[in-house]
Amino acid sequence: MSSSRIIGILVGLWLAVVGVYALVSIALAGHQDTLLTFGNLVQCVVPLLANAGLLLNAGTPHWRRNIFWMLLAMGCTLWMIGQFQWTYYEVYQHQSMPVIFDGDIIFFLKGIPIMAALALQPHRKRGEVQLQFGYLNFVLLLTWWTFLYAFVVFPWMYATPSESQYNYNFDMVSNVQNMVIVIGLGVLWLRSKGAWRMVYANLFGSAAMYMLSSLTINVAISMKKYSTGGLYDLPLISSFLWFGVAGVIAYLKRGELDSPHDSGTDGDDRAREGRWSAWMAMAAVISLPVFAIFTLRFEHDAPEVRDFRLMTTLIASVPIAFLVFLRTNRADADRARLLAKSEQSIENLQRLQAQMVQTEKLVSLGQLAAGAAHEINNPLAAILGYSDLLADDATLPEKARVTAGKIRDQARRTKTLVANLLRFARQVPPERTLLDINTVVTNAVQLRALDLRTSKSRIELQLESVLPGVRGDGNQLLQVFFNIVSNAIDAMEASDGGVLTIKTIRDRGNVVILFSDTGPGIKDPQRVFDPFYTTKPVGKGTGLGLSICFGILQEHAGKILCYNSQQGGAVFRVELPAVLAAFPAKEPQLAGIASAPQKTPV
Ligand code: ADP
Repeated sequence: MSSSRIIGILVGLWLAVVGVYALVSIALAGHQDTLLTFGNLVQCVVPLLANAGLLLNAGTPHWRRNIFWMLLAMGCTLWMIGQFQWTYYEVYQHQSMPVIFDGDIIFFLKGIPIMAALALQPHRKRGEVQLQFGYLNFVLLLTWWTFLYAFVVFPWMYATPSESQYNYNFDMVSNVQNMVIVIGLGVLWLRSKGAWRMVYANLFGSAAMYMLSSLTINVAISMKKYSTGGLYDLPLISSFLWFGVAGVIAYLKRGELDSPHDSGTDGDDRAREGRWSAWMAMAAVISLPVFAIFTLRFEHDAPEVRDFRLMTTLIASVPIAFLVFLRTNRADADRARLLAKSEQSIENLQRLQAQMVQTEKLVSLGQLAAGAAHEINNPLAAILGYSDLLADDATLPEKARVTAGKIRDQARRTKTLVANLLRFARQVPPERTLLDINTVVTNAVQLRALDLRTSKSRIELQLESVLPGVRGDGNQLLQVFFNIVSNAIDAMEASDGGVLTIKTIRDRGNVVILFSDTGPGIKDPQRVFDPFYTTKPVGKGTGLGLSICFGILQEHAGKILCYNSQQGGAVFRVELPAVLAAFPAKEPQLAGIASAPQKTPV
């Protein structure tokens, strides 16, 4: 069913309910008791209908919006609780409502959640609510309005009870509050666009109708013409139904409400919200002495009333000042946190810049290496070929053949190194092949071992002789292992060298590679895979290496974890799913290294 049809049906139902109410009310005009029961029951039910419509919207993924609708529903619920009291007196106790009644405050308090809802401005804000701030602002709002009620209404209840003054002041303060709500909704209506505009327009309409109904009922009560269930209640019932309809309209338009249209950024919104609520908090504090001065200088009521009001103002100043202090405190803490965060971001940016320079260098180095490799490979092939010929030439003396064999071995080694360098530097699209992990590990170690000759660190390989294959991108896995090995060497160098032991094992359906070093261990194992987490100085570390490794391993359906061993060094454990049925062919140019003995110091 289209949404305009549903709205049409709802409006029809709304008019029908109001029409039936009017008819029943006219029909029961002579039966006072039945009319009272009927009116009270209907008034207990309509806020429930309003709540049903409003709360339809409270289950979205946006907390700010959910809270907005929940606060509106809370307002209706408070009103309903107020109405229960009337029902209790009029229907259950068969008494008329006392004029001066403590419970009236609930009818007044119902406006506070509604005002808090309006302050959330869900049409504009993209950021989520800052919970602690939200609570503080809400409590401040509640305290101030309760103070206002105590200041205006309580003196005529507790200091010098007076029915007429009580009624007059209660109506005045309630009307002011209703007006604030109507004006607030009007402003939101005028300042919003699209679907939100329509929702606010309906909420404005219902709030305005509620305000008018409350004014009408007040006048009727003062003229002694009001009775629950009479026609004066029609606008009141209509206003609650309208609240519900506004909720349903918002629910039907929820798709359009999802896209906030304001062009301002999140930061703008937050800053504006912060400034606005800070002004309100200040106004709350400043209003107190203004009320006190008013009481002392301009009020001509009885001294008891004056004393009561002064006392109320003094007492209210304590919680309000405390809440404002808490707000400032929170704001300071928030600012300090933001500052630390932006400092961190700047540092990350510097690291990223350094990394980019490094990457550029690597790219040019890769191009250089690719060019040089061709030049080196040709003479190398010749050296290999000739040394082969010489080593196998039986006519040569033994010594010459042994020397030729050594030349051949060294030439092979050089060829492997050149191939590894090329693989590492080349920017190739990822391609999945069946890999022998022992070979990839050995290649990474060989690359890293190139500049280990003068250092005090050693790498020891303990490779399982028969490992199942792994499907993956050889180049990416080479980078992962190279990075883990480099980190371990860096850590060990920082503490005067050590030994890195790399073990490959087969563990159920996985191939596991364990890197254990004798360095100082990881400072914060929980964070090492976070982007930009590094303990190295700017220019040396970027904090990206392990997070990239993490991503690569995830793409390979593998895992990487780390912990500190009991001896204190770091252990990195990499797991890759094995292709159990297949054993990979070893790459020809690396064959010499892959079939290395079980224990290979490099
Ligand atoms: P980077 O090497 O640029 O700092 P990485 O993401 O590779 O970035 O590493 C992040 C951090 O993890 C390192 O700065 C270091 O503190 C910690 N780390 C990694 N490997 C080791 C290790 N073997 N021993 C101690 N700390 C390590």
